[in-house]
Amino acid sequence: MRILVTGGAGFLGSHLTDALLARGDDVVVLDDMSTGNPANLLPPRPGLTIVDADVRAPLLLDGPFDAVAHLASPASPPEYLRRPVFTLTTGALGTQQVLEFAARKNARVVLASTSEVYGDPEVHPQTENYWGNVNSVGPRAVYDEAKRYAEALTTAFGDSQGVDTGIVRIFNTYGPRLRPEDGRVVSNFIAQALAERPLTIYGDGTQTRSLCYVDDLVRGLIAMIDARGERGPINLGNPVEMSVRSIADLVLRLTGSSSRLEWLPLPTDDPVRRRPDITRAAERLDWQPRTSVVNGIGRTIAWQRGNHRTAPIRPATIPLAS
Ligand code: UDP
Repeated sequence: MRILVTGGAGFLGSHLTDALLARGDDVVVLDDMSTGNPANLLPPRPGLTIVDADVRAPLLLDGPFDAVAHLASPASPPEYLRRPVFTLTTGALGTQQVLEFAARKNARVVLASTSEVYGDPEVHPQTENYWGNVNSVGPRAVYDEAKRYAEALTTAFGDSQGVDTGIVRIFNTYGPRLRPEDGRVVSNFIAQALAERPLTIYGDGTQTRSLCYVDDLVRGLIAMIDARGERGPINLGNPVEMSVRSIADLVLRLTGSSSRLEWLPLPTDDPVRRRPDITRAAERLDWQPRTSVVNGIGRTIAWQRGNHRTAPIRPATIPLAS
C-alpha cells in the first residue's frame, strides 16, 4: 500500500511509519516539524518520503494513495496550551484538508482521535457510546473540541461524500521518542528521576490514567487502517488503570532513583480518572495490548537514559486550578 501519515515525524507517527515500512508499505510523511522531529525518521529508507508542510494547507501530493493515517496535531497538554489557536485550526482545517485529499484519492482515512473527547468522564470505564464531559471554554478545549469537531467532520465525509473513514480514540500512550521536554507524565517522571530531581506530582496524585505502550498502540492503528469499511469510533488503550502517584513510584523503582516527590497544584480541568473499555477493539480489530507497564516503562527508561539532554516541562506552563 501507499500510505500518507500526517504527523509522521512525531512520537506515534514515526513508530507507525517504521511499522508500515517494515511490512513493505510505501509511506509519505507529512509534518510541519512543530512538535515532530526529523531525527525520528532516521535512517532514510527506500519507500519513505518526507514532506515538510502544514496540514492546514491544500495537500498537493501526486500519485495514488490507498490510505491516510491522520495524526498531525500537538498532543501534550503543555504543547497544545502553548498554541491554542494553532491546535484548534490544525484539528479543524487540517482534518478538512486530509478528508478532501482522501476523497480525491479514493483512499481510506483513519483519524487519530483521543480519549480527551470524553473530557472529565462521568462514565467509567469509558465506552465509545459515552458522549463525554468537556468544558468548551476551559483551557483543554482547544485540543478536546478540535478532536471532537474532527470526529464530526470525519463522520460527515463518511456519510455524505462516500469516503471510507475510520476513527480511533487513543488513550495515554508512552514509549521511546516521547520527548523528555514534552511534558507528559511518563516522560516527565523518567527525566526527573534520571536527573535525581523531584518528581512533580500535580494534585494529590490520586487521579488515574491507563498507559499503553507505543508498539501495542501502533498494532491497533495498523489493524484499523487495514479494516476497510470499519468506521469506529474504537478506543485504543491499555485498560490497566494506575494512579499518578503509583506511576511515580514505579518510575522510582525501575530507575533506582532517589528523587523525592514534589506536590504541585492540579492543572485546570485535569480529568480525575480515565480507563478505556476495549471490548470493541477486541471484537472488531482482534486487538488488545500485550506489553506490561513494567516492561514498557523499563524500555522507555532505557531509551531516555541515552536521550535526556533536555529538561522536563515544569507545570508553570500549564494553567493551574485556583
Ligand atoms: N502529571 C503529573 N506530573 C507531571 C505531568 C503530568 O502529575 O509532571 C499528571 C497530570 O496532571 C495528569 C496525568 O499526570 O493527571 C497525565 O498527564 P499527561 O500530561 O501525561 O496527559 P493527559 O492525560 O493529562 O493528557
